[in-house]
Amino acid sequence: MVLLVDDQSFVAEMLQRLLISESDINFHYCDDPSQAIKTAEQIGPTVILLDLMMPEMDGMTLCRFFRAHPSTRDIPIIMLSAEEDAITKAQAFEAGGNDYLVKLPDSVELIARLRYHSAAYINKLQRDDAYRALRASQMKLEELNLKLRELANSDGLTGLVNRRHFDERLADEWMRAMRYRRPLTLIMFDIDAFKAYNDRFGHLEGDECLKQVARVTQQTINRPSDTVARYGGEEFIFLLPDTDSSGALKIAEDLRARVEALHLPNPGSTVSPHLTISIGVTTIVPGINSMPDEGIKLVDGAMYQAKNAGRNRISIAVPPPD
Ligand code: GH3
Ligand code: MG
Ligand code: MG
Repeated sequence: MVLLVDDQSFVAEMLQRLLISESDINFHYCDDPSQAIKTAEQIGPTVILLDLMMPEMDGMTLCRFFRAHPSTRDIPIIMLSAEEDAITKAQAFEAGGNDYLVKLPDSVELIARLRYHSAAYINKLQRDDAYRALRASQMKLEELNLKLRELANSDGLTGLVNRRHFDERLADEWMRAMRYRRPLTLIMFDIDAFKAYNDRFGHLEGDECLKQVARVTQQTINRPSDTVARYGGEEFIFLLPDTDSSGALKIAEDLRARVEALHLPNPGSTVSPHLTISIGVTTIVPGINSMPDEGIKLVDGAMYQAKNAGRNRISIAVPPPD
């Protein structure tokens, strides 16, 4: 697809004649330089023949316009000049022209150059398309990978972090707390008499109950570094970096109150007519060479202490001195 911009219609006629035998070359002509960009946008040339000398606007200026315009920026431009002049030629290339032909060129040369520039431009468009498609699929893949990672790290029923990911987070935060000698809080809780709940309402209702508990659990934390995970069937655990024992107790009490406020009936429970939880809390500054398991053992012990002490309560484990 060739677009000729030239004020003299006889040039168009001559060129058209030179190209007449080439059935695959589509020739378009624009005699008004002020309409050239619009015409180019409409017909989509793969190469432009541009007259250097036009009364309204000279070819150099128009060439710069083509180069500045996003939709014509990359279209190859062959400058058509009346004379073979080194300075004009240099200016034409400087203005953004890709090639230079003296009017009227011989048909073999004209056709060869038109074909060469067209093919190069079409190749570039195809490359750009392929690159865009590649970028798009890369982005899609990144998105899917992110989703996959989220899925791999989360618990299918509640959407909370799963135990595997929690263990990774705990290992990281344990090391950090050890290095900077910062307190780290673990809170573990288990639903009281959940077997009775399932027996009374069925497993599906039991699942719904777990989802609701998970939702209010998530509401008790708001720091980006805080994590809450589903640790087992009806057992949940918090990891709260940089949180001291008074902060820990506030969250534990808030949690207990929120679950109670759900007011989920649990008639089979001997503790309360409504669903309750038993909570263990521990706040540790991890000692040198200590292991995250020590924290888990402590908070687990605290939780069972809360169970043994009658359930629906909070129990605190104080770590042994270093
Ligand atoms: P306790 O107060 O001592 O914690 O008593 P409990 O009945 O809660 O404890 P127990 O360990 O005897 O029972 C836990 C119940 O939790 C049994 C199990 O069926 C139920 N459970 C565990 N995971 C799920 C789950 O994903 N969905 C449902 N619906 N129930 C679950
Ligand atoms: Mg339980
Ligand atoms: Mg349990």
